[in-house]
Amino acid sequence: MASRVDLDGNSIKTLTICMIGAGGFIGSHLCEKLLEETLHKILAVDVYNDKIKHLLENSNQLWADRIQFHRINIKHDSRLEGLIKMADLTINLAAICTPADYNTRPLDTIYSNFIDALPVVKYCSENNKRLIHFSTCEVYGKTIGSFLPKDHPLRQDPEFYVLNEETSPCIFGSIEKQRWSYACAKQLIERLIYAEGAENGLEFTIVRPFNWIGPRMDFIPGVDGPSEGVPRVLACFSNNLLRGEPLKLVDGGQSQRTFVYIKDAIEAVHLMIENPARANGHIFNVGNPNNEVTVKQLAEMMSEVREPEQKYMPR
Ligand code: NAD
Repeated sequence: MASRVDLDGNSIKTLTICMIGAGGFIGSHLCEKLLEETLHKILAVDVYNDKIKHLLENSNQLWADRIQFHRINIKHDSRLEGLIKMADLTINLAAICTPADYNTRPLDTIYSNFIDALPVVKYCSENNKRLIHFSTCEVYGKTIGSFLPKDHPLRQDPEFYVLNEETSPCIFGSIEKQRWSYACAKQLIERLIYAEGAENGLEFTIVRPFNWIGPRMDFIPGVDGPSEGVPRVLACFSNNLLRGEPLKLVDGGQSQRTFVYIKDAIEAVHLMIENPARANGHIFNVGNPNNEVTVKQLAEMMSEVREPEQKYMPR
């Protein structure tokens, strides 16, 4: 592979990357990208490896000796610090991050997104290792517009629905609304990482994905995942369509999403990995505001793709 250069024209050093949550949706695509297009080595940490089996079992590939899988639950495993010490960079993707879990497993959600991430931040900080941490667009909370009546014309006014980190108030739901357990835990770990940077010099980058989608993103209940449980909206609708069931819209499907194809998003993460001087100390919102749809529009589009001749039946 020819010597590669970063955005400033400097040659890129070969890295050892400790990737926690490498066996998940984003991790599996990031592993593919790094193995196929770079010479970096990956210490892949996860409790599952189904989504990266094709990378681990393919011993004929040139990159086969550049990925090592470590079946580790980061909640309680003393090997974690050793792996972080061995690596130049740690990427933490591990989390409970399925919306259906936020209401039903709020304790697990808070532990996973805050408490379990703490040692990762601490080990990186103490050992002077760079950290790329995955947060979420949900840290922005709710818009002022969402408090207006559904048919109020000001709901369409950008002043009331566009969130600007510097100027918009940060509004979360009440403590009783447990779906906010995820966003609050993610926000607190962002604050902690930022504080580690400010007080102890931790080199960090925070990534906030805005609805990245693509193969392996989720599960179809009973087909390639548990038969119970509710996956994210795209897999949920796919499941309904495959079973010939009507698509269920929460609150009329008025909430909005900006979808990004996973391979495009991974390009952005790849740039962050290889351009530390530009990425350190920054938070990147990775989304596509030109690809915004309401959940109702998504339901209509997916129904059209599945059965072009049948009109979609809301429920
Ligand atoms: P995912 O659920 O597919 O992957 C997470 C992985 O972490 C899983 O393989 C899981 O087994 C692993 N994991 C969880 N707890 C662990 C533990 N204690 N020890 C070891 N491994 C553990 O999720 P994803 O979509 O790949 O998301 C990755 C990150 O990006 C998460 O932090 C998530 O909050 C964030 N994020 C993703 C999106 C998106 O569009 N997919 C949106 C917002 C935020």
